[in-house]
Amino acid sequence: MDYKDLRELMVRTQLIPRGIRDKRVLDAMERIPRHLFVDRTTIADAYSDMALPIGEGQTISQPYMVAVMTELLELRGSEKVLEVGTGSGYQSAVLAELARDVYTIERFASLGELAKIRFQDLSFTNIHSRIGDGTLGWLEEAPFDRIIITAGAPEIPEPLIAQLADGGIIVIPVGGLYSQQLLKTRKKGDNLIKEYHTLCVFVPLIGRYGWKRE
Ligand code: SAM
Repeated sequence: MDYKDLRELMVRTQLIPRGIRDKRVLDAMERIPRHLFVDRTTIADAYSDMALPIGEGQTISQPYMVAVMTELLELRGSEKVLEVGTGSGYQSAVLAELARDVYTIERFASLGELAKIRFQDLSFTNIHSRIGDGTLGWLEEAPFDRIIITAGAPEIPEPLIAQLADGGIIVIPVGGLYSQQLLKTRKKGDNLIKEYHTLCVFVPLIGRYGWKRE
């Protein structure tokens, strides 16, 4: 089986049966070469139903979790998206297929720089990356139509709420250090409309408005 077949199998056996319906999300995940975002030592498992280690104690998320979070963002193609937690860059690439521009922040320089090389190699011109504490957001580029945090947080970091456009959506795993629940929040004027989704396990969001240490 080649990688294209493995991607098709991933979509058909891991995403569709678990309820992912957004055709644009399914198509994007069938296109993006996930095997180019994982470490060479784990390439055989690139399309398996699991998260994989990417160095610095961090992980590339399970395909299903990438799909759920992306679907919850309700992307139509014109959005400016902020991602906190670049990691391997895989989620950024999926977002970049579905939105206008993606701004992504990673706290580990080694991971952020490797992801940047991948974006260049794959000719993504709408992904903008930086190294730093993503809990502070990216003030110069705010407001964002959508914000996705791909690490587990005690609550939504305040600066990210402030940097979300009116009508915008934040998707974030919130809860304890070892297990969380996906929270989708829509900003309507001064109100935040919250919806809780699946339980999940993410590495911690470490920063000024996240956990203070691992
Ligand atoms: N989206 C990633 C992917 O597709 O590979 C998965 C990311 S991994 C589950 C979470 C990432 O968040 C890690 O790389 C971690 O270093 C990063 N992270 C944690 N706290 C952060 C912070 N305050 N700012 C930016 N990145 C952070």
